[in-house]
Amino acid sequence: MQDVVNVLYRSEDIRQRIREIGHTITEDYENRKPVLVSVLKGSSIFLADLVREIDLPLTVDFMSISAYGGAAEKSGVVRILKDLDQDVGERDVLIVEDIIDTGLTASYLISVLEARDPRSVEFVTLLDKSVRRITPLPIRYSGFDCPDRFVIGYGLDFEERYRNLPFILSVEDYPGLIERPEVLEGFLLEGEPPADLSE
Ligand code: 5GP
Repeated sequence: MQDVVNVLYRSEDIRQRIREIGHTITEDYENRKPVLVSVLKGSSIFLADLVREIDLPLTVDFMSISAYGGAAEKSGVVRILKDLDQDVGERDVLIVEDIIDTGLTASYLISVLEARDPRSVEFVTLLDKSVRRITPLPIRYSGFDCPDRFVIGYGLDFEERYRNLPFILSVEDYPGLIERPEVLEGFLLEGEPPADLSE
């Protein structure tokens, strides 16, 4: 199975790192009421675990975006499919991302939200694929610096599947996984990958 996928982050490592980030955010935003903005769908799992590690009177909100195809895709311009319910004017906004890759989506998002006159806008991402960054981006909180691999699990999908894996895998053979998606079946809810994958 290792020729198709490999274990990158175990669920215990993810839990521990989120606990640390949550405590740092609690300290940094003392006496403030941040609004955590989750970009659907991938970051919803991270958001759910992160908010339970932050001891602040925060609120959450959701945005759904879709990338434009063709040339617009390279510019990072996105279409907003679902906008925020809350007015973020004068608020401390924390954009919650599952992964920041080229940074194009994130830089577009920050420009959209900054135009609404918040008090502050910062990013918290579980994974930072920094080697792929095209546009420089100030990321305040990052879980792990992710290698240049396609990753799945813990909210991250492979053609809409595997978001429910409690750990994160790197896909070593993308066509292989398309051909044999069943290699990942049977241990989705085990909590940890099987031994033959983690050795
Ligand atoms: P960016 O605009 O930073 O290049 O792309 C960000 C989006 O691309 C992420 O929110 C995510 O939806 C998707 N993405 C980038 N890398 C990966 C990856 O390794 N795995 C998965 N499942 N999605 C990815």
